Amino acid sequence: MDPDIGEFELIERYFTFSENTSRPYVGDDCAYLDFGTRTLAVTGDTLVAGVHFFADDDPADIAFKALGVNLSDLAVCGAKPSGFVLQISLNAVSKDWLESFSSALKTLSIRYACPLIGGDTVALPEGAPLSISITAFGEPFARVTRAGAVSGDDIWVTGYLGLAGAALTLKKAGKAIPDALLERLIRPEARLALGQKIADRVSAACDVSDGFISDLNHILLASGVGARLDFASFPVHRELQNQEGELGTFGIERAILAGGDDYELVFCAAPQYREAFKALSTAAIPVTRVGVVTREPGLEILHLSAETQNALDSLKGYEHRVSLHA
Ligand code: ADP
Ligand code: MG
Repeated sequence: MDPDIGEFELIERYFTFSENTSRPYVGDDCAYLDFGTRTLAVTGDTLVAGVHFFADDDPADIAFKALGVNLSDLAVCGAKPSGFVLQISLNAVSKDWLESFSSALKTLSIRYACPLIGGDTVALPEGAPLSISITAFGEPFARVTRAGAVSGDDIWVTGYLGLAGAALTLKKAGKAIPDALLERLIRPEARLALGQKIADRVSAACDVSDGFISDLNHILLASGVGARLDFASFPVHRELQNQEGELGTFGIERAILAGGDDYELVFCAAPQYREAFKALSTAAIPVTRVGVVTREPGLEILHLSAETQNALDSLKGYEHRVSLHA
């Protein structure tokens, strides 16, 4: 059996070239390219059948997610989307599939004024899984990175965490999924509007794609700081709370802290912005202060159940792992 390697170690070991070796972390949600006084934000994400979605998922949902996850990275720097390129590798798909996929992609592209400007199309050998790769471009409102958090900053999160993670758990168990949870799993709405309102005030930010702890950890490692969170301050969506009988307290807490696929924003900012951020909070999309950045590295979470507290190390969130041949 070959040893396996996590995606972040792999990127750091093989794909962190000279221009960014000084950074002890893999990178930010968007890369920034400067052209004189103007900057372009660039991000890319790939979705593969069997890894990121089920092969028989609704093609409209797949389209929504493929572009949505890229828009979510653009939201981190409050970018105004400029356009995207689509690399699609496929075999034996039906006309209906392509019509449904492309029309959903077009709808979303119009909604966010983010035109499809190019790409690549590859016919795969039989049996190879469908893969959709999107690279999106935008005009950033501010140059937001994961590396600027300092001790004393507040830690904030948008929206309700754990909905998509809980939906996936219920789906895998063949259980009924409430609409509010399912919606977040299949139609993640990028926080572009909120991102534009906060980007110039944050010291560090990241979108929550792999799980809250995992993504906050990217910020903590990049910034060389730690965090103390109060779990009691996390907003819990009523429909998620209603699943306590199905998922148990641990299942709910795990979904919130490590569920992944939330596509919310986690960000750090000086306490002077508290009132401004609170004013952005709505019942549908709360903006909530959940903790504080500490000088000492490490993550402490108050008011968690004992079971979750004991399992904290296992809640690091999702990381792709590949086996590495000698
Ligand atoms: P996100 O979840 O925000 O899309 P990822 O977790 O996929 O980000 O990637 C983390 C960081 O590593 C990003 O800055 C991304 O651009 C960078 N990265 C990922 N894969 C590669 C690669 N193969 N080569 C260079 N950089 C990469
Ligand atoms: Mg991201």
